[in-house]
Amino acid sequence: MTGKICIIGAGPSGCFLAQALLKSAPGLEVDVIDALPVPFGLVRYGVAADHQGTKAIARQFARIFERQGARFLGNICVGRDITLTQLQAAYDVVVLAAGLSGDRRLGISGDTLSGVYGAGSLTRALNEHPDAPPLPVLGPRPLIIGNGNVALDILRLLAKTQAELEGSDLGPGPSQWLAQNRIDHLTIVGRAAPERAKFDTVMLKELAKLSDVTIQMNDIAPSATDADGEKLLQSLTGLDGKSDGPRQLIFRFGLTPLALTGDTHVRAAHFSNAAQQQVDIPCSSVITAIGFEAQNDWLPRDALIQSAADLSSGRLGPRLYAAGWFRRGPRGTIPEHRTDAQILARTILADLDPDAGRAGRRALGQIKQVTDFDGWLRIDAAETQSPPTGRCRSKISSRLRMVQIAQQEGTRQ
Ligand SMILES: Cc1cc2nc3c(=O)[nH]c(=O)nc-3n(C[C@H](O)[C@H](O)[C@H](O)COP(=O)(O)OP(=O)(O)OC[C@H]3O[C@@H](n4cnc5c(N)ncnc54)[C@H](O)[C@@H]3O)c2cc1C
Repeated sequence: MTGKICIIGAGPSGCFLAQALLKSAPGLEVDVIDALPVPFGLVRYGVAADHQGTKAIARQFARIFERQGARFLGNICVGRDITLTQLQAAYDVVVLAAGLSGDRRLGISGDTLSGVYGAGSLTRALNEHPDAPPLPVLGPRPLIIGNGNVALDILRLLAKTQAELEGSDLGPGPSQWLAQNRIDHLTIVGRAAPERAKFDTVMLKELAKLSDVTIQMNDIAPSATDADGEKLLQSLTGLDGKSDGPRQLIFRFGLTPLALTGDTHVRAAHFSNAAQQQVDIPCSSVITAIGFEAQNDWLPRDALIQSAADLSSGRLGPRLYAAGWFRRGPRGTIPEHRTDAQILARTILADLDPDAGRAGRRALGQIKQVTDFDGWLRIDAAETQSPPTGRCRSKISSRLRMVQIAQQEGTRQ
């Protein structure tokens, strides 16, 4: 089977889709475009620096470009460098796998005060994303709002000692930022009851290994729940009272955010508990980890999703599809995108009606400074050849520098 397919987004969903398409139909031309000069999306710029086992999926994704024949075209922002309409004219099929990069806001009074930061923006800065804002001053009492794994990632990284970050790819800037923070109380608050928190119990177990913290669980009461809820409650109560160091990690549950207050900078967060009483928590900063939404000025995600022909199958319109977080919203782990991709690949291949007259990647010919997969291998080699002591990589954060290295012909190191 032949045909020209363009996938927008080289994150997990785009990579798994390219893999599934080429496995079923090796004769396809599959181009994976990304706004960044480097592939792998949130594997590189979201997954925590101390979770190198999770980041290792990048090695599997590399084979899609090295052996299966997919083409990576980086540093092309769709909507800015080329329009979606132009891509639809050039390819038989276009798939939007562009993720969701905006932090969902709390939507309460005070959520625009200074000192309030989104988890996505903070994790991008920790992962040295080229467009991330500088790492902020969190002060002695940061408050994390959210009870999912991204919230736990931030809690764990903020609580780790320098020795506990050994083997990560945390850069010198973020490492220094973590070493210099003066956090004494780190509170994490969720709206749901503890047994319905979205924490992964494996990630909770990691907290038990932290050497510098004392853990306090609040708002936990015995309750009738299912097996998963029971397991979660056991994990949480098992951590309660752990006392190995001065930094306090305080868990609160069942608190609905009402308002954030402060003069210009946030100083306190106010919640309502199950008994409708107000609970006030003083804080020096707030990190919201309550999900993600479209914040991509270049692609009209909301309009495309609203007018989708059949979103559950991934069909947005004729020859246009959606995958990953772009389709399903900010839910789902990396492995879940593999199953979704296999189903979407079958749908695309069943619908495919190739037109040999379409230009395919020739339509991208006018775009300057495009990076390719060999270019990524040069960047990867430059980052890993002599990392600092205790680190597995020294990430290049400048887009310009990445493009320069990617384009150094014939010098893969
Ligand atoms: C902080 C954080 C930590 C996480 N940790 C884990 C974890 O440990 N384990 C786990 O299983 N899951 C984790 N997840 C979830 C996981 O990262 C997502 O399920 C997955 O990355 C979603 O894949 P995606 O391909 O849909 O989106 P993304 O990974 O976001 O990829 C989208 C790609 O599209 C590109 N793009 C966007 N707009 C454009 C445009 N206009 N033109 C061209 N390209 C564009 C982006 O640059 C990006 O590379 C984490 C998520 C976050 C936010």
